[in-house]
Amino acid sequence: MRRLVIEGFPRAGAKARSSYSGDSARLKSCPDTKANLRSAAIAASAVAGISDPEDPKLREECGVVAIHGHPDAARQVYLGLYALQHRGQESAGIAAADGTHLSNIKGMGLVSEIFTDDVIARLKGAMAIGHTRYSTTGDSALLNAQPIRVESTKGLIAIAHNGNLVNLGNLRVQLERQGAFFQTTSDSEIIVQLIAHSEATTLVDAIADSLRQVEGAFSIVMMTRDRIFAARDPHGFRPLSMGRIHNPDGPDTVVFASETCAFDLLRAKYERDVLPGELIMVTGDGVTSRQYAPPNQTSCIFEHVYFARPDSRIFGRWVQESREEMGRQLARESHVDADLVVPVPDSGVTAAIGYAAESGIPFRFGLIRNHYVGRTFIEPEQRVRDFGVKLKLNPVRNLLEGRRIILIDDSIIRGTTSRKIVRMVRQAGATEVHLRISCPPTISPCYYGVDTPRKSELIAANNSIEEIRQYIEADSLAYLSLDGLRNACDGGEGNRFCVACYTGEYPTRWVDVEDILPAEVAVS
Ligand code: SF4
Repeated sequence: MRRLVIEGFPRAGAKARSSYSGDSARLKSCPDTKANLRSAAIAASAVAGISDPEDPKLREECGVVAIHGHPDAARQVYLGLYALQHRGQESAGIAAADGTHLSNIKGMGLVSEIFTDDVIARLKGAMAIGHTRYSTTGDSALLNAQPIRVESTKGLIAIAHNGNLVNLGNLRVQLERQGAFFQTTSDSEIIVQLIAHSEATTLVDAIADSLRQVEGAFSIVMMTRDRIFAARDPHGFRPLSMGRIHNPDGPDTVVFASETCAFDLLRAKYERDVLPGELIMVTGDGVTSRQYAPPNQTSCIFEHVYFARPDSRIFGRWVQESREEMGRQLARESHVDADLVVPVPDSGVTAAIGYAAESGIPFRFGLIRNHYVGRTFIEPEQRVRDFGVKLKLNPVRNLLEGRRIILIDDSIIRGTTSRKIVRMVRQAGATEVHLRISCPPTISPCYYGVDTPRKSELIAANNSIEEIRQYIEADSLAYLSLDGLRNACDGGEGNRFCVACYTGEYPTRWVDVEDILPAEVAVS
């Protein structure tokens, strides 16, 4: 049973309501209790990767897609969001426009659960934007699902945002003094309110004006009744690419997506990245671009380590190439004699392939992930605690028994999951377990759209590598060096990266930290 927010659809005998809060309809009922939200968060972590609810993987916040010039734009966006599901499993939404109307449907859950055929069929028009979300700011609720659709002095605008703003508290107070009435607690609405309050006379100038005032991470797509916009913050924290679907009978369809893996499902050809500090507008007359702010690139290196799919090309480099090189470099930096290289699936697989290739030690899938562990099974919280990692991972005993194993994983957050996995491999008969991590120790939280625990909960912020090794009960433990990671992810592209979670040195002023802490942490 799923509750949807439906906006912007004319109803018989009633004028279509255009404000965000209005015109929502309960198609089916499902109470939004705290317990449900907690279950959703647990389920989201389960879908996102191998972890347990007490030690979740770091979670990406969002994926965005936009389409201009396709007769079935909403369905194309659906396909794009489907490919980006790994970037957020809490809620999803699609807004579509046909030149006159701009309608929007969003709900809690996975893209395929919300957008059944009949729901997609209601979203008409040749333009659409979409969003899949795991939240770090704003309440974890349907109200903050995106796209957010706001009637403003500049007309009706829908926005979908990946990233986190860091100066939102100041801006929100400032805007409220100017009479802004916020309809959500999401930081993304600040961008729309700034557009509405801008003194610029054209919409594109107002958007540029608004983007210059916000600080932090944002890759956004926006839509009015007849135009699509795409923009990245000047640091280019989060990826955003542009592609085209060739149309022999007319103008090409222009596509934007957080990752290029979405283009493959749409049969779109990758054209280029939206540049840091760039604002692109797509209308019936074509594509125009402006640099609204000078670029100062510090793209999130953790996209290459963990978040992005290996079949995506982000920041000009294939993620698969970066990850494999991380594994190779890790083998050069911290070789150990062993019998097998075993990845912690799925995120450790590509680095493990690189490690095995460089070290000459055979690669084997010694841990099998159950891909069918889903949201429905893990509803009762207690069950998750009881089963923990075992629910999702199982050792291949005949491979591990009597062998010295090098386990490859992408990160250690609190350490409890790593300890369970090391124990599992040892209990399956491994004589030695050596853990290798394909990035440096995570010592500091992220404020740019990645859900991280506070510093006191990060095991590497408070313990030496030897202490962590003892805690996780491994025979040896080594992390990839920062230089090794940078070199693996650059690949000659000349990218500059944010590495703040490994160094504690942030590339922006972060002025409103309390506001951007995850809700659970903020109240504890
Ligand atoms: S702090 Fe870490 S996770 Fe956050 S943007 Fe920087 S590199 Fe990425």
